[in-house]
Amino acid sequence: MIKVENIHKTYHMGSNSLHVLKGVDVDIKEGEMVSIMGSSGSGKSTLLNILGILDTYDSGSYHLDGMPIGPMSEAKAARYRNKYIGFVFQSFNLITFKNALENVALPLYYQNVSRRKRNRIAMEYLDRMGLADHAMHMPNEMSGGQKQRIAIARALIADPRIILADEPTGALDTKTSYEVMEILRDVNRSGKTVIIVTHEPDIAARTGRVIRVRDGQIDHNYDIHAEMAAMVGAEDGQQTHTLG
Ligand code: ADP
Ligand code: MG
Repeated sequence: MIKVENIHKTYHMGSNSLHVLKGVDVDIKEGEMVSIMGSSGSGKSTLLNILGILDTYDSGSYHLDGMPIGPMSEAKAARYRNKYIGFVFQSFNLITFKNALENVALPLYYQNVSRRKRNRIAMEYLDRMGLADHAMHMPNEMSGGQKQRIAIARALIADPRIILADEPTGALDTKTSYEVMEILRDVNRSGKTVIIVTHEPDIAARTGRVIRVRDGQIDHNYDIHAEMAAMVGAEDGQQTHTLG
């Protein structure tokens, strides 16, 4: 579904430049649920934005569903995005002056779906998120977890094949984070490819496969299970110490 080969990306700021992606390869099959991990500033969002055709790359290649994705007009990029991709962000990116139903329905507005039809479909997605009774609530009347469920419903409403989520649990407490991850796992079980950027190992562990970005490249030796085991070991050690 997604095949990236030897991608490079450098940001230029005046006379300074920053080589962020230094030959990245990523291969994600349709129906996978994958996390992209890495420390802050390692280029996770840069990579996700390239996958989402929100940003361009300097060299290498990107194929989406077999089609080459290179330099293209914004109109064409928007067409590909609308057809293939739903986005979820850490800060929800809801429109503050529109209610939950209107936020969820927004992508259909841009597809010129009639108000009656888009509200009906939006109501179905709200219901699926357990938020049918919050349809008329404004974003500032909802919790972080509720806002993220609204954002997920909005990402799903145009029936994209891929969901790209950039730190979707970054603004949520642990319990709510795990609830949102359960929803994303349901989305994946319904057949959609799900790609989640995170820097939290316990979130990454809830996906099927972890891709680790380090120093601008993919670390192919990275083993999330070893990292998780080391974390648990460290906690055990601390406890023994306290008890001793
Ligand atoms: P991550 O998501 O892993 O925290 P990013 O992909 O956002 O990392 O950023 C990688 C590096 O590129 C950071 O050092 C960041 O400051 C820099 N960067 C990101 N976007 C831009 C931009 N538009 N212009 C200049 N530098 C940028
Ligand atoms: Mg980021």
